[in-house]
Amino acid sequence: MDAAKERVLVVSAHAADFVWRAGGAIALYASRGHRVRVLCLSYGERGESQGLWKKEGMTLDRVKQIRHEEASKAAEILGAEIRFFDAGDYPLKVTDQLIDDLVQEFRSVQPQTVLTHTPVDPYNGDHTETSRLTMNVRVYAQAMGYPSEHKHLGAPPVFYFEPHQTEMCEFKPDVILDITPVFETKVKAMHCMDAQVHLWNYYTDVAKRRGTQGGRNSGNPAIVYAEAFQRVYPLVTNEIK
Ligand SMILES: [Zn+2]
Repeated sequence: MDAAKERVLVVSAHAADFVWRAGGAIALYASRGHRVRVLCLSYGERGESQGLWKKEGMTLDRVKQIRHEEASKAAEILGAEIRFFDAGDYPLKVTDQLIDDLVQEFRSVQPQTVLTHTPVDPYNGDHTETSRLTMNVRVYAQAMGYPSEHKHLGAPPVFYFEPHQTEMCEFKPDVILDITPVFETKVKAMHCMDAQVHLWNYYTDVAKRRGTQGGRNSGNPAIVYAEAFQRVYPLVTNEIK
């Protein structure tokens, strides 16, 4: 393993969540040569594909296929690897197999950073399920007694990415990431999501708003676009600044 190369795991409930909420972070890390791997639990075929269901003759399999193509293309543009689990949506089904697959992912990738959903989201049970699952799986991967061919996990920090309706999800933006250098890449990835065109402008506006906050909180006027994250565990440091 190349020590200089960092590893980021992004656990996304549905096909496009990682693009809206963390596309900038993914593109930024990838642009620096780091490894970013997206674990996409479901295609969001029932709940987050409304643009496709409006078309005549649409079937569940066709929706899943299209969402697979969209998310694969978006991941490629962002510079990330992606793995699909097809665990279903509305509801997302957490099986023993899914849990074990995810533990093995954490063990084999050994991420230094983990991004996922908030544990509160009154609009979407799959998001909260994914958050809970990610937190649990991280802990299982740390347990030396959990069967695996890979070494047990250390203690990578977890960050919640910004939910769709921030205030309703008790989300506090305590990390603002400057994504200005890669914002065009994020836009290109968002434009892969033809099933949810209504969100393109919405997340551009969110990035501008967080960019303004980034400039305000850092004194750096060059920050135009940003993404917000919430840290789960304390920052461990040897200096306060
Ligand atoms: Zn979602």
